[in-house]
Amino acid sequence: MREKMKAVQIHAPGQYSVDLVDIPEPLRNEVLVEIKSVAICGSDPGIFDGKVLQNGWPPYYPFIAGHEFAGQVVALGEGVTKLSVGDRVSGEAHCGCGICASCMGGFYNLCLNYGRAGSGHHHYGHNTPGCYAQFQVYDQKALTIMPDNVSYDEGTLVDTAGTAFNALRLTGVVPGGDTAIIGSGPMGMFAMLIAKALGSRTIMIGSGQRLDMAKALGADETINYRQSEDIVSAVKKLTKGYGAHQVIEAGGNSSAYYQSVQMARKGGQVALISIPPQDGQEAALKSLIMNQITFHGVRANPNCSQPVLQLMSSGQIAARALITHIFPMDDIHEAFETFRMRKDGALKVLIHPNGDI
Ligand SMILES: [Zn+2]
Ligand SMILES: [Zn+2]
Repeated sequence: MREKMKAVQIHAPGQYSVDLVDIPEPLRNEVLVEIKSVAICGSDPGIFDGKVLQNGWPPYYPFIAGHEFAGQVVALGEGVTKLSVGDRVSGEAHCGCGICASCMGGFYNLCLNYGRAGSGHHHYGHNTPGCYAQFQVYDQKALTIMPDNVSYDEGTLVDTAGTAFNALRLTGVVPGGDTAIIGSGPMGMFAMLIAKALGSRTIMIGSGQRLDMAKALGADETINYRQSEDIVSAVKKLTKGYGAHQVIEAGGNSSAYYQSVQMARKGGQVALISIPPQDGQEAALKSLIMNQITFHGVRANPNCSQPVLQLMSSGQIAARALITHIFPMDDIHEAFETFRMRKDGALKVLIHPNGDI
């Protein structure tokens, strides 16, 4: 009989429970990871509630979701060269096939074999089982060894920090210039911390406790969008009328998408992380054209784990400060409720599938 583990299984939209299931076995190029810590992602509630079924997430029921984790390698499949038993690793959601034109170019987040069974492509926690479990198997490509001074809890944040890093790598950062960030959630917070580490002045646009936290973590300027009816003029005012060199949109609503274009300076760079809305607004498009602004869509975080772990390790980005709550896996419902309702200032909410670490 196979050994069993606890895992959070989604049985139907909105229905999930902690069940006993078989511990998976690593196939070729895979390792078995004991999951030490998991962070709830902003995209997880949609997967649990069946709101993104059109994307094939999840592809079947029951399904184990989750993609922001850190853990320890406990067994190796055949052909594993990069990792050893005992390695402390953080994970990424995207694992490319490795041989298509996108993967060969380093853009495994855009793998041309996305979702094709048997190709080697995985989108962990989306179309391949994920980390709300005590153990999970991963392709060695999806794991990065963590520096000793980065904790498992901090390691769960590499996925989010990596996506913010990818956005700033796409826009580039003008040292001494201005970066405006829309959205003071975990993604916006990491964009602020990384832009600052790269020598930019930062303007954070958000609200409530999260905005106070951004200030405490070093945002140079903050704009409360609930108090300022026009965040575009507020950013212009703080930048001598010119607008920001880089604008990172992580606000998750349609007005933020357009305001991001309008608050960029001439020749500016805009990166969108939230899934954009369908309809258009002419004023923003006019800004885009007249000011020759470069736009970047940002999908996940290819080749970002290594530099992000370095920034965490050296203390240049204060990842630990973003972790507000930790729950054992049996309290998964309470953890989701805390995250969803932003209870007690919840920002990043973590799960420890194997108890205390
Ligand atoms: Zn995520
Ligand atoms: Zn590929």
